[in-house]
Amino acid sequence: MNIGLKVGMFFMVLSYSVCALAESSECYGTTSNGRIENAVPLPEKGGNFISYTTDLELSGRTFVHDAVKEIVVQSYKTLDESHPEKVFKYAETGSKNGGLFWPHKTHQNGLSVDFMVPVLNKKGQSVHLKTDAANRFGYDIEFDEAGVWGNLQIDFEALAAHLVALDQQTKNQGYGLWRVIFDPELQPLLLKTKQGDYIRENIKLSSKRSWVRHDEHYHVDFDIPCKPLAK
Ligand SMILES: [Zn+2]
Repeated sequence: MNIGLKVGMFFMVLSYSVCALAESSECYGTTSNGRIENAVPLPEKGGNFISYTTDLELSGRTFVHDAVKEIVVQSYKTLDESHPEKVFKYAETGSKNGGLFWPHKTHQNGLSVDFMVPVLNKKGQSVHLKTDAANRFGYDIEFDEAGVWGNLQIDFEALAAHLVALDQQTKNQGYGLWRVIFDPELQPLLLKTKQGDYIRENIKLSSKRSWVRHDEHYHVDFDIPCKPLAK
């Protein structure tokens, strides 16, 4: 083996060990009063998903607990195999250190993720909901009671498949989904999908109206043990 190759291998092994030594995330308190250490950002994109923004200022708003990152990324991978024609978009998650995350009331300890609803265009193709400063990165969009906004229709089948993938991946990692917040008026359409029975039996959907309407996005809280928040 020549010396260059040896040196190269040494650095490969070294960089691998450094990665392996990255500390795992530690969450404290609750989603509405908490913080996190060693949070990690979600990847900006993957084969079938993208972030709600690539704006540098906002990129600090997509940090999560490392177990949540694994669940989210693996769920998208399984959807890429089961539903290759569908595309997905995630939105705000939390800041690097957690704590107050305006304008959200939760999202404080790395265990909350907002996802934009998957949508179909007039041709029935899966497309991304447009999110930019003009519509407050998607949060200002208002779907009607049939899940329609302009030329777009909420893709309830894709949404259901995503929730099932998230639930199964969370269980695979030894955790649980605490709750999913989605507009109660639109829930019957979600429960009418092929995976409706699975959702009814396995996933806790919010029954109350929350402080903002969750029609253009659904909010997921993961049940991962956290340490108490020190006073
Ligand atoms: Zn949220």
